[in-house]
Amino acid sequence: MLEEQIKNAINKLSESGDADLCEELIRTQGVKSPAFAQAAFKAGIFYPAILYQDASPEIRDKLIDLLENEKADQLKLADSPYYSQLSADDIIRRKVDRCLDALAMIGDDTVVEYFQKWETTPKAWRKLLNIGPLEYAADVGGWCIEDGKRKSLFFEECYALEKSENATPEDNVYGKTASEKCPSCGSSYVNMLVLDGRDERLSFLGINGKIKIKYCESCLPWTESVFCRYTEDGESTIIQQEGGENRFFEDEELNNRAPFVLSKKMVPKSYCADDGLHDCAIGGRPDFIYGAGYITCPECGKRMMHLAQLGMEFIGYGTHYIQICRDCKIVTATYQQT
Ligand SMILES: [Zn+2]
Ligand SMILES: [Zn+2]
Repeated sequence: MLEEQIKNAINKLSESGDADLCEELIRTQGVKSPAFAQAAFKAGIFYPAILYQDASPEIRDKLIDLLENEKADQLKLADSPYYSQLSADDIIRRKVDRCLDALAMIGDDTVVEYFQKWETTPKAWRKLLNIGPLEYAADVGGWCIEDGKRKSLFFEECYALEKSENATPEDNVYGKTASEKCPSCGSSYVNMLVLDGRDERLSFLGINGKIKIKYCESCLPWTESVFCRYTEDGESTIIQQEGGENRFFEDEELNNRAPFVLSKKMVPKSYCADDGLHDCAIGGRPDFIYGAGYITCPECGKRMMHLAQLGMEFIGYGTHYIQICRDCKIVTATYQQT
């Protein structure tokens, strides 16, 4: 049955360039197959980059060869009427960009080695780009180099957030108003996530207690990010939130949102998509609406790890991305929308 689904999905990708079924299998069923990347590469499809998550070394090496040997112009891209309007440089830029997206997503030791090499000894194509390979690594692949080693910026474990009619405040997740008011806009702060690291499902977080992630939801869309310091006994203090404009949510509106709880079972690490269907989870790989999603910790300067994605289904508009630095006990939230 699953075999059949995979075959159908790949046929659809190859014949019409439509990757939706492949993406669905990767995200919701956790199918790991190098066949997705193989078919996508052959058809010149590079979006979504998640198609390349489990690419074979053969596809990886083909992509590396194109960049290492300045042959990116040879990459096949699926036809788009838009390309006729692009200059030759723009087309090569696009091809280099697609190669780097796919390689960042693969992100294995060989890719790490080449990305570091291309940073220190840039190739000719680097001049076409605004950002270097290691920015692709973080934005697309979810990894960075820290102290000379590859570090993943997301947890492999992932639990979906599901609507629940009868959730209680003890059921981990979330998000009713706190007693304090935001000094900028006057809305109540929201205890957006309350996570108990002692819950077996959340043991991967390595948090020995309960943490509360609190911020002003009204101001978030107007600011780049907010920071909140937590303790493991469930307290938290907002340490940095610029004021937004006077956009209120009434407390009643916030408190009337349907409660969400953690799914009983783990879901695939790439479960989250920004599709309004499965866009809410704790852990796993975030699906940023646009890149540059990982924030630097204001205390230690290291990249923070993705903790939660709260999409349309949860908050009703746009997406909140929550990241954590466990060393400094700081969380941050950012907002993106299409
Ligand atoms: Zn506010
Ligand atoms: Zn830190």
